[in-house]
Formats: sequence, C-alpha cells, structure tokens
Amino acid sequence: MLKNELDVSLSKAETLKEKPDQDNLGFGQYFTDHMFVMKWSREQGWHDAEIRPYEDFHIAPAAMVFHYGQAIFEGLKAYRGKDGAILLFRPEDNLKRLNNSAVRMCMPRIPVSKVLQAMKGLVYLDRDWIPEGEGAALYIRPTMVATEGALGLRPSSEYLFFIIKSPVGAYYAEGFSPTRIYVEDKYVRAVPGGVGEAKTAGNYAASVKALTEAQQKGYTQVLWLDALEHKYVEEVGTSNIFFVINDELITPPLGGTILAGITRDSVLQLARDWGIAVDERRITIDEVIAAAEDGTLTEAFGAGTAAVISPVGEFGYQGKTIMINNGKTGALSQRLFDGIQALQRGMMQDEHNWLVRVA
Ligand SMILES: *Cc1c(COP(=O)(O)O)cnc(C)c1O
Repeated sequence: MLKNELDVSLSKAETLKEKPDQDNLGFGQYFTDHMFVMKWSREQGWHDAEIRPYEDFHIAPAAMVFHYGQAIFEGLKAYRGKDGAILLFRPEDNLKRLNNSAVRMCMPRIPVSKVLQAMKGLVYLDRDWIPEGEGAALYIRPTMVATEGALGLRPSSEYLFFIIKSPVGAYYAEGFSPTRIYVEDKYVRAVPGGVGEAKTAGNYAASVKALTEAQQKGYTQVLWLDALEHKYVEEVGTSNIFFVINDELITPPLGGTILAGITRDSVLQLARDWGIAVDERRITIDEVIAAAEDGTLTEAFGAGTAAVISPVGEFGYQGKTIMINNGKTGALSQRLFDGIQALQRGMMQDEHNWLVRVA
C-alpha cells in the first residue's frame, strides 16, 4: 500500500446507467454508476475501502444512526474545465471540515489525503457523468453514519463512510433571480455550545419546519437569528450571509453556531484580493434594516457550494418588507459569482492553489 493511498478494491458496475437529460438535471436527482465505501470499527479502524456500483446498503434497523442521529456529511463539486480538465475546488477543506464535524459528534476521523486520492479515483471512473453545460457540475456528497446495531445512547462502535455523486444543473439557468428571504424570529438553528458548527444531519432536520412555513408564505429561505436574543444575524438557509454596507463587505464571525463555509472563506479571500474592505463581525437585524432604509445597504447575498452566490432581493421581517437594491442583483454579488465560477473551472489564475486536478 502506498503511503498516500488506501488499499481500495475496485468492482465496476456490469452495466452502466443511462445518463439523464443534461438540460433537466435539477439538483440531487440522479446518481452515478459508482460510489466509494469504507467501514470503521473500534477493533479494526478504517477497513474494507472499496469503489463499487451505486446500490442500496444493507443496514440493521437498530443501526444507531436511525435512533440517535450520528450522521455527518459534506458537499463539493467536480467541474469540467478548459481542455476537458476535471477539477475539484478546495476538496481538502471539505474533508478537514468533515473531521471537525466528526470530532463534535464523537465519530472517527477519516484519513484526509487518502480519502482525497480515493475521491479523485472515483470521480475519474465516473467522469462521463460530469455535465458539460455552463454552470453544471458533478455534486459530491461524502457522508458518515453510525451503523452499530444496538439501542442505548453512547457513541456507536461502527461507522460507514461513503461518497456518492450526482450530476447537477446550473442553479440559475436563466441568470440570477434574487431571492425573497424570511427573517426567522421564532425558530432557531443553533445554540452556543450546540452543534451548529458541525455539518450534521440533525441541524437540517431541525430546520425543515421553519423552511416549510417560510415557503408557505412565499419565501425561498430563512435568515436565522441567534438563539439567545433573536437579534444577531447568523446564516441564510444552508448558506453563509453577506451584506454590503457603505461599500464594506460584512459577514457574521464564526463563533460556533455558524457553519464555516468554504464559499464564505473564498468570498472573503477574493474580496481582500480585490482591495474591498471586509469585516467579520456581529451584525443585528435592526442594523441591516436601518442600513437598507437609509440606503447604505446596497447588497445582500448568500454564499454556499450549491448556488455559489445567491443574491437577496428582499427580506420579510415581522410583517415588514425590506427591499435590497430594488430587488436586483448587486455589482459585487455578480462579480463574485462570475469570479468564483471562472476560478472553479480553471479560467482564472488560481493564486491560492484552490484547485485539485483529477485529470
Ligand atoms: C454547507 C453549509 C454552508 C455552506 O458551506 P460551503 O462550504 O460554502 O458549501 C453554510 N451553512 C450551512 C448551514 C451549511 O450546511
């Protein structure tokens, strides 16, 4: 076994699936021919690493993930670059973040560089699934769940780690459409000392009610406020939030209740590269509204892997509607969106060594 490689066995699918219509991929609807799987047990550590056909798992009904929720995941994309290059964007950061989530959830850490090697092999094997269309990509979902079949609350002694992949279409097929965001003042996402910083399944389960109620009112997503005072802005749905006030780019700091987004970090870095003033600080919803009303708030947007940049057209808060930039996409939002997309596809100088080439 080479130092940087897991001993990964390969069993290829006998028949390959028919590829979906490239113009109607949506998000997370189709899955490729192969997946990566490995197991962990207290006695053996990580073992039985393999790339094999995408298929159902055989898991005990008593598996601890179903009862106590030890489940963590990641999300990143493989892009088609110039000259057919296959590119991953900051994949090590995703795998390191998975390990941070693992520590918080009492789950085993994965060997980052070895899993990255396996991920590259997996993406290469299913390379015909990487969509060509502008803005389209192959979404990669590394996941870990507790599989010991036993009841009684404690950390599981067995885990399954897997990587599945789904071709996804451009998030904004017809150009940006700024979103309507509901400022959530009843439900909360994360409390200090809780698991808000971990990409763990329970956080999403806990957020679905707020999301559905906001959608019933005609909004796309919710803007979360802090759990203690319902005052400080935290995140928007499953993206980090940014504001442009007096030409300064402002985002809440990472303080344990917010997900440390890789897009967030890329946005901050690019803005600094471009000479834009950046501030990571706590910001109240009252400050946001006041700045929108006196015209100093010129842009608001979410940042995350799925949409890259998602401009906010309006906030709804306690019965009031707060328009942002007349509901239109701001200049910096557009520049960041174009810049990050170009970077991810190898069309811009990769000054921070963010790209990992699969082939
Ligand atoms: C995944 C996620 C983000 C965005 O992280 P990226 O690494 O940029 O995709 C932000 N907030 C939450 C709650 C998330 O789950």
